[in-house]
Amino acid sequence: MNTIISVKDLVKNYGAFHAVKGISFDVYEGEIFGLLGPNGAGKSTTLEIIETLRQKTSGQITVCGLDLDKEADAIKKQIGVQLQTSGYYPGLTLVELINLFGGLYNEDVNPTELLQLVNLTDKAKNKFKELSGGQKQRFSIATTLINKPKIIFLDEPTTGLDPQARRNLWELIKNIRAKGTTVIITTHYMDEAEQLCDRIAIMDEGKIISLDSPDKMIDDLVSSGFERTKQVKSANLEDVFIHLTGKEMRDE
Ligand code: ADP
Ligand code: MG
Repeated sequence: MNTIISVKDLVKNYGAFHAVKGISFDVYEGEIFGLLGPNGAGKSTTLEIIETLRQKTSGQITVCGLDLDKEADAIKKQIGVQLQTSGYYPGLTLVELINLFGGLYNEDVNPTELLQLVNLTDKAKNKFKELSGGQKQRFSIATTLINKPKIIFLDEPTTGLDPQARRNLWELIKNIRAKGTTVIITTHYMDEAEQLCDRIAIMDEGKIISLDSPDKMIDDLVSSGFERTKQVKSANLEDVFIHLTGKEMRDE
């Protein structure tokens, strides 16, 4: 297992408020690593510090063997970061936006290839504002790949999407990882974390309170004597929804 991101004793204070309280973890090359936790836990702060977009208070971070304090510019070239979709020029077409980002990264991009990867070839000449929620998310994931990064960071990429679009995004993320890209993702959907993530860190109030594979965490809880109060059925309401409405995307 090669470590691609190493975080040691990371602290972030906003004035007197301690948002991240000395966390340490490693992310391995080629894994999908989940950062989970209630709102305000410090997930986005942690990601943005690793992405070189926010200053840390203290701690040591290396990304792809590069020291964040000394080689932030070199790190930027190795990572793909999902921008806030509100930052896109709504009146530009998808091809125009990809060319624009390609220019910013000084990368020769093939818009058709990139759009194919995220299943948006049909929308190449559409404006960003004309896309559905799921399509916007897929497009924003495509933009993380423009500089052919080793690692991509996805902060709540499926929040607000319908179950079909969420499943579609899981497939996309798995495909990206299958090509060798390491993925760090945050989500509030536990089924998503269980489906996608090799390992997860659970954060609460600025600390990591557990770090393991989802499977191991569940087994540990069960072997501690935990039992669900409600009788477990062999399907849940989401299964019903998908069974009734199908897996097909609706917004194409
Ligand atoms: P999460 O992504 O887990 O929801 P955040 O990293 O966004 O959490 O925020 C962690 C804590 O830090 C929250 O209490 C939030 O209000 C606070 N916080 C985030 N950004 C700032 C900021 N720029 N100034 C002050 N406090 C902030
Ligand atoms: Mg957040």
